[in-house]
Amino acid sequence: MAAYKVADATGLIKLDAMENPYSWPEGIKKDWLEAIKDCQLNRYPDPEAKRLTKTIKELNQLSGRFDVLLGNGSDEIIQLLLMALPEASCVLAPAPGFVMYKQLSDCLGLKYFGIPLLAESFDLDLPVMLAVIEQYQPSVIFLAYPNNPTGNLFSESAVLEIIKKAKGLVVIDEAYAPFANASFIGKLDQHDNLLVMRTVSKLGLAGLRLGYIIGNSSIIEQLNKIRLPYNINVLSQVSADFALSNKKLFDQQTQNICAERSIVFKQLNEIEGIVAYPSAANFILFKTPKNSAVDIFLSIRQQGVLIKNLSGQGGLLSDCLRVTIGKREENRAFLKALRVSLQELNL
Ligand SMILES: *Cc1c(COP(=O)(O)O)cnc(C)c1O
Repeated sequence: MAAYKVADATGLIKLDAMENPYSWPEGIKKDWLEAIKDCQLNRYPDPEAKRLTKTIKELNQLSGRFDVLLGNGSDEIIQLLLMALPEASCVLAPAPGFVMYKQLSDCLGLKYFGIPLLAESFDLDLPVMLAVIEQYQPSVIFLAYPNNPTGNLFSESAVLEIIKKAKGLVVIDEAYAPFANASFIGKLDQHDNLLVMRTVSKLGLAGLRLGYIIGNSSIIEQLNKIRLPYNINVLSQVSADFALSNKKLFDQQTQNICAERSIVFKQLNEIEGIVAYPSAANFILFKTPKNSAVDIFLSIRQQGVLIKNLSGQGGLLSDCLRVTIGKREENRAFLKALRVSLQELNL
């Protein structure tokens, strides 16, 4: 295996990791410092993070039938879910998809199926998915909605068919829900095997490390057996509760990011040789001229902007790069660097 390596962004405009580019106004920062002032760092945190859990339940208007489990990022929840499976279980997800599903499955010795998405639309290959489900009965299916790194929402009817057909758990990973206007939370009522996972990372709190998963109380009860007792530290509990109670601020930031996404998408597609794919998330995947992705990526970095090079993964991601939507001036700097790189490389 290879460790998950994070690129060094020192001195660069950072558009590689789907972070929210905005910080908080001074007034809110002051209120936040006030809120964490009395945290008892000498004591263990509330093992059940009761107050934060209540805030999250209210925010998502969950009925009593459903419970929430918190994780140190949704990465930890993926790990915990996979650790809960019986030996020799298999795991299914579309490819390309979020890398941690496979990384953690491999690490735990689980059999992993990455089913290629359809080439043009990046939508689910439903017949193949259903056939694999029938033959191998995966214990867990992960569907990122919107998908990372392609940015699209899968067809809702295809997802519903998969949920119906699967006997195992289906996790809808809604890491990018703030940018998408679409969710399966409203469908939890109708499917006992459905879980919806979210994170505050892409919303604007990546530094806190907080994710959560919503599902039937009976399933959450099982997952809780594997969760480490104090997995959410006291500063994260209080800070997340504070931040989520200031949701208006994030709504404004999210709107800005979505508006910028439209601009970047349009401008990318106006550049000759570049094809940008539609995105419901806070990043855009785009295709570069054949065999030039690495050179373009390096040239853009040389010019001070860090994006993500996905071309090494091959398959549908051959020649592909991914840019996170930043502030207006950051996006401009990226677009300029891309244009310059194409000129420099005579593309
Ligand atoms: C970023 C991301 C996550 C991980 O989020 P954390 O809560 O920061 O661990 C999970 N799923 C998808 C699809 C992501 O893109």
